[in-house]
Amino acid sequence: MITQNVDGLHLQAGSSDVIELHGNIWHNLCANCGRPAAEAELDAGTPPACPHCRGLIRPGVVWFGEALPAPAWTRAAEVLETADIFFCIGTSSLVEPAASLPRYARSCGRTVIQINPEATSHDEIAQYVLRGRSGEVMPALLQAAWPAWPA
Ligand SMILES: [Zn+2]
Repeated sequence: MITQNVDGLHLQAGSSDVIELHGNIWHNLCANCGRPAAEAELDAGTPPACPHCRGLIRPGVVWFGEALPAPAWTRAAEVLETADIFFCIGTSSLVEPAASLPRYARSCGRTVIQINPEATSHDEIAQYVLRGRSGEVMPALLQAAWPAWPA
């Protein structure tokens, strides 16, 4: 699972292999050295500072204009290169570079399925476009594919 969400809800819901392209708001890191910061370090001052380099502690998310974490981006590309199907679900497909992933999946010969209530630029490249909310379309798709899937 590759997500642009920073809320950590995929992990909380039990997904075990999540690539968080834009980070996780529940994680903190040093803005200077990038070292992950433990929760207890947030109480070390206002604003909290890194005990190793005195850089400021910040949320572990990607802000507009920042590069994506290289390990997450590399892993996302590797997953796409080996996936059978790429579901592009519930995204406006406007924020780059994440928005380029469906196009990359197509260039790797993957089947791309777009699920979104609104049209996006990826409707043109997806082999299948399912219009609707993910919370409605995905259960119906799973039920159709595997009738034993709980409704
Ligand atoms: Zn630091």
